[in-house]
Amino acid sequence: MAPTHVVLGPVLALPLLVLAPELAATGALAGIAGGILPDLDLFVGEHRRTLHYPLFYWIPTIPAVGLAALVPTAATVAIAMCLLAAAVHSVADALGGARELTPWEATSDLGVYHHVERRWIPPRRIIRYDGAPEDVALSFVLAIPGAFLFDGGVRLAVAIALIVAVVYGLIRKRVPRYIEPIVE
Ligand SMILES: [Zn+2]
Repeated sequence: MAPTHVVLGPVLALPLLVLAPELAATGALAGIAGGILPDLDLFVGEHRRTLHYPLFYWIPTIPAVGLAALVPTAATVAIAMCLLAAAVHSVADALGGARELTPWEATSDLGVYHHVERRWIPPRRIIRYDGAPEDVALSFVLAIPGAFLFDGGVRLAVAIALIVAVVYGLIRKRVPRYIEPIVE
């Protein structure tokens, strides 16, 4: 779910705390933004297809990370971290449930769209569905670096994400009741 992707941003930025501490907060915030980015296709286009690229995000990510390592500035680090987080998000979604209104029923095989092979990657369901208890638990574990090793805006974003995670986890199975009339 989105909060789990959000709290992963600071985790991806952990190397910056050692390599370029002055850019770590920028990198973490860019990682948070990149973690949210793919899920904007909930609102525009087709979810888990229009902005989810399990393979293509890596093509700009690898040179962007290389450039940020060679020329570490706020801009290069932000671009690299944003792309990296979007790439990881697109792969990670395949480990969860399917793209369906009631993913705990596990009736769909649509995990994440693979644009190269023009097919859907089936859901692995290691996390059974977004907002499942194990998803909420995972978000708390991944939130530890963001909450304790960063401060300011990063810590605030992580705290907000955890609140959203808990609320979403509690109401998850009631969500279809509200969005079904909109989707159909
Ligand atoms: Zn997603």
